[in-house]
Amino acid sequence: MRRAIAEHERTLEKDHRRPDLTTLSMSIKDRTEPCYSGASHLHRLECGHTVHTEQVSLCGRNCTTPITNSTAFACTLCERQKMKQSSRIRYRSPRVSELILPNFPLFNQSHVPVIMRARGCDIAVVTSSKYFFVPSTPEDIAAYRVNNNRRLEGLIEDVVDVAKDMGFSQTTINGITDGLGTCVDHQHLWVDATYEQLAAMVLYLSAVRAGIEQPGMLNQLSMCVGASMKGIKQLLPAVSKLLIDRSARLAIADFMQTFEKTCPAYQKHSKDLARLQLKLWRLVLNRCLFPFEFIAANWRHIVTSCIYAVTTVNDVYFDTEEISAAIGARSPSIDGEDMNTYLLSIIVDDKAYQIKAMNTKARRRRKLHARYLRCTGRHVVATAPAPALAFPLHCGFGSLSLHDHFDTLVAW
Ligand SMILES: [Zn+2]
Ligand SMILES: [Zn+2]
Repeated sequence: MRRAIAEHERTLEKDHRRPDLTTLSMSIKDRTEPCYSGASHLHRLECGHTVHTEQVSLCGRNCTTPITNSTAFACTLCERQKMKQSSRIRYRSPRVSELILPNFPLFNQSHVPVIMRARGCDIAVVTSSKYFFVPSTPEDIAAYRVNNNRRLEGLIEDVVDVAKDMGFSQTTINGITDGLGTCVDHQHLWVDATYEQLAAMVLYLSAVRAGIEQPGMLNQLSMCVGASMKGIKQLLPAVSKLLIDRSARLAIADFMQTFEKTCPAYQKHSKDLARLQLKLWRLVLNRCLFPFEFIAANWRHIVTSCIYAVTTVNDVYFDTEEISAAIGARSPSIDGEDMNTYLLSIIVDDKAYQIKAMNTKARRRRKLHARYLRCTGRHVVATAPAPALAFPLHCGFGSLSLHDHFDTLVAW
């Protein structure tokens, strides 16, 4: 089926007038209005996704207007997102257009007692306030995917135009389109937000970063890209957090690439150092070691301090000014020294931030693995242990090339 979809996609891509989604769509009427007085073909779930049932069915307890004792619907999109996150399937973006592909392992409820199982249903795509469609045949899915890509490409062109009008440099514009891509790739975080809304927010946040925002600017930008203002303000902090996280990861990856060249002696440790720096950065961001507004305004300084702290505990000595120049932190931060000392104090006694400890752990793991292989009589393999086993399984960097490695750092 995947091949059939790909074939349809290729045919559709050649024809600029197609796909015409309106011919696939059904109009939303009484019985197909989501959760229409408690019973409908369409249901809007609290996760933000919409599902379709062949027969009119009662609302579930996970509808946005729940019926408490009713059986929940199994949201295929959320289940597939979970499969992706737990790496049960190879990397896929969480865009609906990817999650909609049929070749996912089936959602398995066999271990759940029958009465507790969620109700089966189909993914429905609501294309506007009046139309929806249920992508089931290869043609439908291909049409949706091609249409979706075209929409995004068109929007990116608009965004570039708006950004040029705002006087941004090419580098900033690249950052903006990259940021929009990142937001679209994290669609599970904001299922309700449209691409246009995400674009308006990315543009606005770039203006804030550049210090050129004015009152009413978010409104104006929303109009420029045709986005609705509804709910956009509530989403801003989350989008801002994602974009900062992305920039910080890129900054660390870039820094470590230059580090490898300037300090060849440490080349073999640069991957480990980068991982530890990222770990510390994630600690700062996710545990909110500083108020978010402070992180948003000073993330470059914080990244500098993360690099400083991790390299220092591992006996690699850098001048803070050297790091902050490479990271692009404009002037030495007022609290720079304090932040360095603070982050250093957090990790100084923590073995998890020391390469040596990490390597000992890896060696122990390799030894255990070798012993395990000897016990199971597979000693031939033991002479060349799988490289992935040298690292904790959840990161699996060991088997990746350097280039992939930096991609992984950036991707998550
Ligand atoms: Zn419902
Ligand atoms: Zn869902």
